[in-house]
Amino acid sequence: MNNVKAYSAASAKSPLAPTTIARRDPAEHDVQIEILFCGICHSDLHYARNEWSDVMPTIYPCVPGHEIIGRVTKVGYAVTKFKPGDLAAVGCLVDSDGTCPQCEAGLEQFCPNMVLTFGSQDKQLGGGTLGGYSDTIVVDEHFVLRVPSNLDLAAAAPLLCAGITTYSPLRHWGVTKGKKVGIVGLGGLGHMGVKFAHAFGAHTVVFTTSPSKKEDALRLGADEVVISRNADEMAKHVGSFDFILDAVSADHDINAYINLLRIDGNLTLVGAPDKPLSIPAFGLIFGRRSLSGSPIGGIAETQEMLDFCGEHNITADVEVIPIQKVNEAYERLLKSDVKYRFTIDMASLRSE
Ligand code: NAP
Ligand code: ZN
Repeated sequence: MNNVKAYSAASAKSPLAPTTIARRDPAEHDVQIEILFCGICHSDLHYARNEWSDVMPTIYPCVPGHEIIGRVTKVGYAVTKFKPGDLAAVGCLVDSDGTCPQCEAGLEQFCPNMVLTFGSQDKQLGGGTLGGYSDTIVVDEHFVLRVPSNLDLAAAAPLLCAGITTYSPLRHWGVTKGKKVGIVGLGGLGHMGVKFAHAFGAHTVVFTTSPSKKEDALRLGADEVVISRNADEMAKHVGSFDFILDAVSADHDINAYINLLRIDGNLTLVGAPDKPLSIPAFGLIFGRRSLSGSPIGGIAETQEMLDFCGEHNITADVEVIPIQKVNEAYERLLKSDVKYRFTIDMASLRSE
């Protein structure tokens, strides 16, 4: 067992603060990674503050972080995919049973026994699994991803959650050229959704509450931008969308978006507000529209997404911060003041 530096929250009301945590020694199939960059997902904030207490009560102390890129420092003797010195990445999943039909289909995100990078029970060490706001992490090689060598590492880290969480539903719902696609909320997830929808050839429309993000939305690949608080702008799009991806982190009027779907159109929620959303039946009935959700993606699809990003030179737009600024970054997330993902340079943790 190794003791390593990390940042953790001790309770829903306490800020993240420096601490020391235990990491297991790499077992036969494990890869030990020195973390170089870790993105800040809004899920980190929801979880650290126990906002999902009904579904997933937080295990304290909690170390968030599931957008991890680093360098391999040690491998177990049976590891074949990685060797010390390789770049490696870890997303939201660190284990699953490997035997259920979902795992056999490469859909580990639906495994009943999946282990999340933070917030699951740690079978080896007890307590909760601890995430990437830390010096190192030890993960079974099946859950470790390869990073295309042409990508900037700080900007690639957010692909491990924001990237796969938007790539997967856009692929699942057949977003291609000729489709009209909406992306709601231009934060970490939303801006990756725009990049992918654009790369897949769809006519891409961004819905934002922040007029100051309009120019950026166009630069990121949007064909049109709608200020969602403007009812006239919204009305122009009624009944016209094949697919809408909702990446909003807080309570909002989802019916306004259901009404924008065409017949048989689908709205998929990836945003996970703490409070239930109100869904009027008629918005769905008229137009046989459907409403879905989507969690992250499986390991094979995550690798596919990373390779796609390597081929098309796609990364997140990041503001790189030292870990000492993580609490400030959380406050800015709550004000939608992020362009468009914070990434922690983990060298700042080691120099403390
Ligand atoms: P983020 O960077 O904070 O972006 C959220 C965006 O939502 C904001 O930038 C803002 O965009 C919009 N927004 C915020 N408050 C709003 C409000 N009251 N009304 C309308 N729009 C509002 O968050 P993120 O990291 O992208 O995560 C977004 C959500 O997805 C979170 O709930 C997170 O937990 C969830 N998530 C889910 C999965 C999954 O597997 N399904 C994975 C990762 C994250 P504008 O300024 O453009 O309006
Ligand atoms: Zn996330």
